[in-house]
Amino acid sequence: MLILIINCGSSSAKYQLFDAERHHFLAKGIVERIGHTNSSLRHQTNSGKPLSRNVSCKDHHVAIEIIVKTLTDDRCGVIRSKNEIKGIGHRVVHGGEEFKASTFITPKVIRSIVKYSELAPLHNPPSLFGIRACSEILRGIPQVAVFDTSFHQTMPSRSFMYAIPYRLYAKYGIRRYGFHGTSHRFVAEEAARKLWRPLKDLRLITCHLGNGCSITAIDGGKSVDTSMGFTPLEGLVMGTRSGDIDPAVVFYLMEKERLSPAEVSDLLNKESGLLGISGVSNDMRDVVKASKGKGKAAGRARLALDMFIYRIEKYIGAYVAAMGGLDAVVFTAGISENNPWLVKRIEDDLKGIVPREAKFLVIPTNEELLIARDTYKIIKARRK
Ligand code: ADP
Repeated sequence: MLILIINCGSSSAKYQLFDAERHHFLAKGIVERIGHTNSSLRHQTNSGKPLSRNVSCKDHHVAIEIIVKTLTDDRCGVIRSKNEIKGIGHRVVHGGEEFKASTFITPKVIRSIVKYSELAPLHNPPSLFGIRACSEILRGIPQVAVFDTSFHQTMPSRSFMYAIPYRLYAKYGIRRYGFHGTSHRFVAEEAARKLWRPLKDLRLITCHLGNGCSITAIDGGKSVDTSMGFTPLEGLVMGTRSGDIDPAVVFYLMEKERLSPAEVSDLLNKESGLLGISGVSNDMRDVVKASKGKGKAAGRARLALDMFIYRIEKYIGAYVAAMGGLDAVVFTAGISENNPWLVKRIEDDLKGIVPREAKFLVIPTNEELLIARDTYKIIKARRK
């Protein structure tokens, strides 16, 4: 069964066409800079050379048209007709408290995703554009939503509540939701496979270290705590996000620097983290390179790395305590997968802190594969 995976961001639409029974992708790519004058398409089949070209793409509807046209193109396509696609899986960032698992998309589900746009104003609207475009261009093909938040819906209230007046949780849904759920869930399942043990018997800590970074405590296959909160700003030091910070810093900055709430938000989301401390870049490659030099700039880069690693170690310690034990720490995403020294350093630093038998694993994430699996399962179940 061919499943099309769509992941719409504010100005991009990523896609993968999966053969769900054979567990491999046929083609994948991305339409970038949607809504700009210099939009482009990158496309790759599992056997052919990657292709890249400029396209005219004013919105997500056009992006989906381009994707379908590319997949069915005589020269670079992999299918003859769009009717060969039997299901569409969408990555959706926020499913609030309502979606505890991936779900078949109905008009009611769409209304809920619209409702949760209030909690994820940058992320849910592009997903909705993608879902609507697919309902028009790929009419009649069943669609499934896979949420970044749903895996963390198993967190107990003691870890998801903020200690602010309860009425604000009731009124606005202010609580910790957690993100990157698809990635944490995928690598947890892979870790169980690698360790030859059932997931339900394992206490895992999964570290997703990419441009955004988060860490999750997974007890018996269930997320029991995670570092991102109401928004993806909380928790670890990231490329451009501060992670944990005393909220009083926000008021202090507003007063001293005469910043508006939106300006402080930008400062903490876009100018902080590795970039803010190193002054060099949000990209781990650049920070590592700078840290090897001499002088003040190298010192700042080393400080950024130290802070990045220290925060991860602090969370690992906290999550071992939260779960009362640990079987493995799993590292995934760009930073983990390309910086073995970093994982080794964390493993060495934590010797004597985590149980001696705990394993340290690096497992590449594959969110698209999990979205494809969920979509396939849900559509197959509905056909019966
Ligand atoms: P995203 O969250 O956007 O999916 P990725 O998982 O691609 O992010 O991770 C991006 C991070 O991975 C960046 O900080 C980048 O520096 C780091 N990274 C990617 N490739 C390498 C590499 N070859 N060496 C070191 N770091 C890398």
